Amino acid sequence: MSKRDVDRRAGHIWHDGRLAPWREVQVHVLSHSLHYGSAVFEGERVYGGRVFKLSAHTERLIASAAHIGIACPFDKAALEAATCAVVAANAISDGYVRPLCWLGDEVTSLAGIRCPVHVAIAAWEWPHAFGSAALADGIRLMVSPWRRPPPQSAPHQAKAAGLYLLGMMSRRAAEARGYDDALMLDYRGLVAEATGANLFMVRGGTVVTPVADCILAGITRETVLHLARTLGYAVEEQHVTVEQLRGADEVFLTGTAYEITPVRSIGDSTYRVGAVTRALIGAFGQLVRPRHADGASRSQAQDERQAKAPASGGCG
Ligand code: PMP
Repeated sequence: MSKRDVDRRAGHIWHDGRLAPWREVQVHVLSHSLHYGSAVFEGERVYGGRVFKLSAHTERLIASAAHIGIACPFDKAALEAATCAVVAANAISDGYVRPLCWLGDEVTSLAGIRCPVHVAIAAWEWPHAFGSAALADGIRLMVSPWRRPPPQSAPHQAKAAGLYLLGMMSRRAAEARGYDDALMLDYRGLVAEATGANLFMVRGGTVVTPVADCILAGITRETVLHLARTLGYAVEEQHVTVEQLRGADEVFLTGTAYEITPVRSIGDSTYRVGAVTRALIGAFGQLVRPRHADGASRSQAQDERQAKAPASGGCG
């Protein structure tokens, strides 16, 4: 099926309280969010039928809506149940979930106070963001001409649709020049993040990531910080200059879609996919798809994990 057929797929989408046939979930052209970017969304990964960090993603969706002044009409429990229903209804094993909360029609009022607030949750099979070659060799980044705005100019903690315009323009500029993605600097010229992922570098054995003072502090970023500490690495959140990044030994990106993706080059600086990146990819894989050393099945291992950490996964 071509990507153009997105509105004609089989399956179900959860829409405002019920599972509806995929083709029937449509929006009107005069929807407020289509004109002004007034929507928030999430990206979640399904591993072996379970949504990784469902609780954290659901909390962030509700918080993102609040950051831009919208009250999400469904609570956390309802959204989590809806997510599980969508994953089950579409029989997703390894895939991606996209919840969206948006404002319906009333484009003549920018404030959109009287706009109905809608929520939809879709899911589809999607094994890798960049393909397996990217995991082995790393991706190539271009430095974007667009910069992340200061916190006074954008609610950076919100995964808000309107904020993705800069990312979209950056990614287009990068792809047009043959790069995989763009590195965005912030308003100060410090290293910020990629268009849909956080950045880490390894310098002299220390795992470093930029302070989250004008970027989206990703759920994967938090997981990787924890894994790095658990593996015994020194870890620092600090302001990172372009010069420091140039001198890094290893660079990688983290995000729900990207998982842990090594970076092979940024502009004319090149990096190797080193031991620290590989160790973290291994630990992350073990976390999302745990296997026992004795070779016991994934589902047994997942059941154990679920019992130990019920808040980290959901469904299945
Ligand atoms: N930064 C941006 C701009 C993103 O879109 C994402 C993806 N949500 C991330 C960082 C990584 O966040 P997470 O690990 O929660 O997916």
